[in-house]
Amino acid sequence: MKDLYRLLPEEMEKLVMELGQPRYRADQILYPIYNKFPKDISEILQLPTSLRDKLIAEGYTIGSAKEVNRIVSEDGDTTKILLNLVDGNPIETVLIQYPTSKINGHPRSTICVSTQDGCAMGCIFCATGQMGFKRNIKAEDIVAQVIHFARLLQERDQHVTNLVFMGMGEPLANYDEMIRAVRLLTDNRCFGLGQRHITISTIGIIKEIDRLADENLQIGLAISLHAPNDKLRRKLVPTAGPHSVNDLISAGRRYYKKTGRRVTFEYALIEGINDSPEVAAELAYLLEGNGSHVNLIPINPTDGNFKRPARRSVLEFERILVNAGVNCTVRVEKGSEISAACGQLRTDIVS
Ligand code: SAH
Ligand code: SF4
Repeated sequence: MKDLYRLLPEEMEKLVMELGQPRYRADQILYPIYNKFPKDISEILQLPTSLRDKLIAEGYTIGSAKEVNRIVSEDGDTTKILLNLVDGNPIETVLIQYPTSKINGHPRSTICVSTQDGCAMGCIFCATGQMGFKRNIKAEDIVAQVIHFARLLQERDQHVTNLVFMGMGEPLANYDEMIRAVRLLTDNRCFGLGQRHITISTIGIIKEIDRLADENLQIGLAISLHAPNDKLRRKLVPTAGPHSVNDLISAGRRYYKKTGRRVTFEYALIEGINDSPEVAAELAYLLEGNGSHVNLIPINPTDGNFKRPARRSVLEFERILVNAGVNCTVRVEKGSEISAACGQLRTDIVS
């Protein structure tokens, strides 16, 4: 099946012209599919019936994702949806709303998309990593995750304000599809989300970080560091391999130089493993004067034997960084009771 959500504007123009139609028909497809979210080509009433029929006859579709399960947190702010993609494989996507943080009068509504089913990186504290790698997700299916929530939000007179690539999988290990999705979601003739409202989180594939810096995009980058030295990092991220902590920090610096976007270092805090004051001091020493930002993520429970540190230790860790002049925040955790928080997404056990 060929999905119209895969096509960039120039590709859509090429398609309509191949079907014997004027170029402007491309926008008559793009505008409704990215603003009205029809579920079927036959619902795009702006198009002549003959063109709709032709597209259908050629095997084109839209909106291939089907919702199979939805769980909403008690406070109503986090929604986790299990979507069946075109190949029938399920994927988890999460919406996190922040009712007190308004953007143009609407609550901040962040979609957390998955770029792979499973993940080959094997981080020991991450449920997705423990599933292993199953497959890459296509650009149109990354877009479909956003469109699905955009439709749901539109029904409430709200809209998608932010997008994070922090769901299942390693976005930079599925680079081409991930970047195509970013282009589709930010192009003004498509979804038109501001580049600055997008963040890509990576475990740190250096060559791809450099490639991303060269894309001439204004998207934010978050590098999952988790440790201030290689010995500890390799325990937590068994596939860290040749990527040393110092190399990651240099890659972050290069990204900042090229794009002007400050890089965030994510740090999953695990009790008794990487949360001691000594480790905090080592991290502070590594990052001070660097202008970088650290986002501490007290770990969410998964099947592993890892525990979230006591609140006291988290605050102490933060204090040590802040005292050294390192910009630092503790992630406000949402959705962990419905297994929708960072690192809890998996599709091998359907909740
Ligand atoms: N693969 C990418 C993006 C997906 S993971 C990456 O690793 O960056 C998104 C974030 O969730 C990462 O910072 C990751 O370290 C964090 N994470 C993974 N497992 C977690 C857990 N059990 N608790 C809290 N955060 C976790
Ligand atoms: Fe993959 Fe990110 Fe989970 Fe590591 S933390 S296993 S890179 S999804």
